[in-house]
Amino acid sequence: MARRKKIYEGKAKTLFEGPEPGTIVQYFKDDATAFNAEKRDVIEGKGVLNNMLSEYFMNGLTQIGVPNHFIRRLNMREQLVRACEIVPLEVIVRNFAAGSMAKRLGIEEGTPLPRPIVEYCYKDDALGDPLVSEEHIAAFGWASQQDMEDILSLALRVNDFLSGVMFGVGIKLVDFKIEIGRVYEGDFMRLIVADEISPDSCRLWDMETGQKLDKDVFRRDLGSLTDAYSEVARRLGVMPKGATPMKPTLIN
Ligand code: UDP
Repeated sequence: MARRKKIYEGKAKTLFEGPEPGTIVQYFKDDATAFNAEKRDVIEGKGVLNNMLSEYFMNGLTQIGVPNHFIRRLNMREQLVRACEIVPLEVIVRNFAAGSMAKRLGIEEGTPLPRPIVEYCYKDDALGDPLVSEEHIAAFGWASQQDMEDILSLALRVNDFLSGVMFGVGIKLVDFKIEIGRVYEGDFMRLIVADEISPDSCRLWDMETGQKLDKDVFRRDLGSLTDAYSEVARRLGVMPKGATPMKPTLIN
């Protein structure tokens, strides 16, 4: 059998050429990185959980009419997605202050924000994904004014959807990051949600205890990352076969 062609290897995923033109296979690795890959580890089972969780969220977005790249899951670690041209921006939506924004502005983590705040970072690992303004985005031609309106609308729809889904299982959506892709349909270009939506790219806190159920568990050495992600998957009913639920000792 011919070996499939690798298109790109990122920190948490590898992309292969898909079986039909315009498709890509996304393979979810177990690698975890933080602080621009200064901290790294292999966390057994993380890729499987993120594959299942991203499928769950993207399918939900499709159900409510938010266009995204997901086509179907192929196996425990791979999913078939639409090929798209990634807009070189990380689109961050925040409902509560945390992480880099809490630090930058001296706001206590967990402080509710008066409205969702959307931030943009320029995707460039060598520069550490710097925060940029819409002025930079327009001046350097990363996205047009119309694109930015569509991106904002997509980001806020994803926020409302994800916040609601998480609320339903007792989890607070503090913030998250999405990436946006361009697809061409005849003469038209459309923007869709791409990449992944998983606890790697969200901040998720248990509503009762405040326990972190996201990548901060890895970033801040707070315990087992797979236990945390398994807990999110278990609550959403997408627990993969064979995965063990969170150990009770970690719940406080
Ligand atoms: N995020 C991400 N990838 C990045 C940077 C941030 O997925 O390269 C997510 C992160 O998990 C969090 C949100 O975007 O849910 C906001 O991250 P923040 O700017 O606070 O950065 P951090 O504190 O993670 O450096």
